[in-house]
Amino acid sequence: MLQGVSVLVAGAGLAGLTAARDLLALGATVTVVDARDRVGGRVHTVRNGFAAGQHAEAGGDMIDATHAELLALVDELGLKLAPILRAGWAYARPDEHGVVRVVPRDAAHGWERLALGLGELTRQYRLAERRWDTPITQAIAQKTVLQWLDDSHADPELRATAEGLRGFFLADPDELSLIALVDQFAAEGSPAGDRTYRILGGNDQLATALATPLGERLKLATELAAISLRGQRVRASLKHKRQTQQLTCDYLVCTLPASVLRRIPITPALPAQQHDAIAALRYGRATKTLLQFSSRFWRVPGKPAAFGTPMPFGAVWDGNEEQRGKPAILTLLAGGSASDATSELLGRDGAAGLGRQLEWLGAQRAQLLTSHHVTWEDDPLARGGYAFFDPGFTPDLRRWLAQPCGRLFFAGEHTSLRWQGYMNGAVETGRRAAAEVAAVHGMTGVVRRRPRNAL
Ligand SMILES: Cc1cc2nc3c(=O)[nH]c(=O)nc-3n(C[C@H](O)[C@H](O)[C@H](O)COP(=O)(O)OP(=O)(O)OC[C@H]3O[C@@H](n4cnc5c(N)ncnc54)[C@H](O)[C@@H]3O)c2cc1C
Repeated sequence: MLQGVSVLVAGAGLAGLTAARDLLALGATVTVVDARDRVGGRVHTVRNGFAAGQHAEAGGDMIDATHAELLALVDELGLKLAPILRAGWAYARPDEHGVVRVVPRDAAHGWERLALGLGELTRQYRLAERRWDTPITQAIAQKTVLQWLDDSHADPELRATAEGLRGFFLADPDELSLIALVDQFAAEGSPAGDRTYRILGGNDQLATALATPLGERLKLATELAAISLRGQRVRASLKHKRQTQQLTCDYLVCTLPASVLRRIPITPALPAQQHDAIAALRYGRATKTLLQFSSRFWRVPGKPAAFGTPMPFGAVWDGNEEQRGKPAILTLLAGGSASDATSELLGRDGAAGLGRQLEWLGAQRAQLLTSHHVTWEDDPLARGGYAFFDPGFTPDLRRWLAQPCGRLFFAGEHTSLRWQGYMNGAVETGRRAAAEVAAVHGMTGVVRRRPRNAL
């Protein structure tokens, strides 16, 4: 169907690699570039430095039973899933004396209270069929979560629950638009799904399995520096080891995060709304810390091994329960201002300081063996963990994030309506973009010619 048609895919995260897989299957001549020296992007399994050959996820970790496209892909590629965190989530917070207690009811309780408080707005949003081009959505989106908490005279417990969500949305209540919360309730309710998995052997196995068939078609350490749309062709400037080369192709699928894409010159300019959408989208701060201890001191059979907290280190969970060996890894995810606090704490006291914050879990009973942390807002190729919507983002513009522009197609987590912020969103949108190329090509019928590949 796409024989003789050349497609450049920018980005070798899950969106780019999935798009490339489908395009190859359609017969296209595919080139994939990524500025990193590895594939996977924000799926980043850390393998170096941990004892007993263990590993843990510094980026995308949990896969829910509802992540259909991702699960199907995992299955097609012959990868295996490990069920994790089967006892669900609990909530830990300091009491009035500053002693951290695990609250003896599950995290869903606070979530149910939020759902109740937002019931009427959620109903209205559902009446608008969850569209982002209606005054209903616009009115909700103008408020921050904090403004809503103030307006509804929320008690401290409800405020603590909303603040705890910074580990999920990667934004604080004073940054996050209320529409993010309402959209979540309108979709499915609690973000803590029933069944959770990670890929056996590491989530990077998925990226590797997708990349392997690409062979020489995958160019790592190669940065997309500029795009120019010229008549029936797309010209891309690619930088590799300080050298810039031009690649001309029929179509370009761009999967770079909007935070990076907005720095890349595109000529002629994108439509004003599309430019504005890409420029305005915010990305959340997120620091993931992986702490390997000499024992799995937190394990109590039948009890949760995952905790939401209002504390500076954010949420904490068992990062490798599916792996063998005496040592064990705890994963800490600090979103929004907790990311700033964690970075500060790490800078001041090192990983041992973070370990001391976990004494309520029993950390003093084990030895901290090694640690690794990634602050995603400091990564120049991500500039944040994943996208979030603040009140400054005009909801009408959201659809422009995914809108093809001539021969230029967009995919990636941030372009997904249903699965924004998830690996499943990356996979779905990669597949969608590949299908869009095929659809546009089928309708317009490009003259077949050999791709001019300067690489
Ligand atoms: C801390 C953290 C925790 C997360 N937890 C979960 C989770 O538990 N479950 C879940 O489902 N999801 C989770 N996610 C989200 C998930 O990881 C992402 O949604 C998904 O991996 C995004 O894939 P992508 O292909 O859209 O983008 P990316 O993976 O970012 O891919 C884009 C690629 O473009 C490359 N690039 C950037 N600029 C250029 C350029 N100029 N030229 C060439 N290449 C360039 C980048 O190097 C990158 O490889 C988490 C993310 C983070 C950061």
